[in-house]
Amino acid sequence: MMKRQSLVGYGAPLQSTQSALPVPQNGEVLLRVSHCGLCHSDLHLMDGHFDLGEGKKLDITQGRELPFTPGHEICGTIEAHGPSVMGIANGKRLYAVYPWIGCGNCARCLEGDEHLCDLMGHLGIHRDGGFASHVLVPHPRYLIDVSGIDAAIAGSYMCSGLTAFSALRKALAAGGQGPLLIMGLGGVGFMALELARSMTQQPIAVADIDGRKREAAERCGADIIIDPQQPEARKALRAAMGQMTAAIDFVGSAASLDFAQAAVGKGGMVVVVGLMGGRISLPVPMFPLRQLSIAGSFVGSLPEARELIGLVRQGGVHPIPVSVRPLEEINAAIEALREGGVLGRISLKPSADPS
Ligand SMILES: [Zn+2]
Ligand SMILES: [Zn+2]
Repeated sequence: MMKRQSLVGYGAPLQSTQSALPVPQNGEVLLRVSHCGLCHSDLHLMDGHFDLGEGKKLDITQGRELPFTPGHEICGTIEAHGPSVMGIANGKRLYAVYPWIGCGNCARCLEGDEHLCDLMGHLGIHRDGGFASHVLVPHPRYLIDVSGIDAAIAGSYMCSGLTAFSALRKALAAGGQGPLLIMGLGGVGFMALELARSMTQQPIAVADIDGRKREAAERCGADIIIDPQQPEARKALRAAMGQMTAAIDFVGSAASLDFAQAAVGKGGMVVVVGLMGGRISLPVPMFPLRQLSIAGSFVGSLPEARELIGLVRQGGVHPIPVSVRPLEEINAAIEALREGGVLGRISLKPSADPS
């Protein structure tokens, strides 16, 4: 049997469900889940909406039958595969699963940008994911060998890690050797701070409203750490480092985006990643006059995911703090994440009994 923690209604806790173990067809691979990371976007999925600001909500309940199993930060071993899968063996080797699956046939997908495909089939979002003993992966190309990397954190590289990596690549592509601002030290922001040290020599500023997170950032080698809610924060940042070349907003609120756009200099770029919600208004002439770019970044591509795992393998990227909890305790973990007191990542582990 496949044991799962499933969404049975929006705004309600997950429930234990069971189903028959799927038999992989054609190119499918059945993975036994070793660990699956818990993510803020799982909370949005369970709520059934994103906050767009001013009381508006983006409904995300469509295209999903309940009960549904979330979980997209998956790492596991191959249990079985369909007849057309060649060249991979069942066994002990650990794979992370790239979950941002598209149709595989459109121009976007063929360019390697499956995460931008309009026919989304994301694991744990549109098709059953990893808060389970097993998960069905539609094709072996989504499996990335992560042997040697901590299984508790490997799956999170496919989400928080990949999101941080892709946003950093966009921000660094803006050019310039000036400082880079990282706003918001949730799991993704911390991962970005960690990765930034292996990807650039540019000075790194970080901003967070939580004092404990600012303290943790000190140990992670940020060059300057500020509290953006302090009235003199903008001035202090500019006095210490000048104007930013680029900023990455991992919060994605009106306040954070406004702070980020004001901190970058001419030709600067703000990459928005966070989904906190809200809206801001900016004078249109400031875009040309400051040559300001505001770009969004959504997770990352499959080639980027492979590149990131390569970077992690080289060493030099310290794993972010992770706490492992039994999958059965997922609702308590979700509550802890909602309350915002979690530093680093929570990784859920299904019980090992092979039933
Ligand atoms: Zn995630
Ligand atoms: Zn496609």
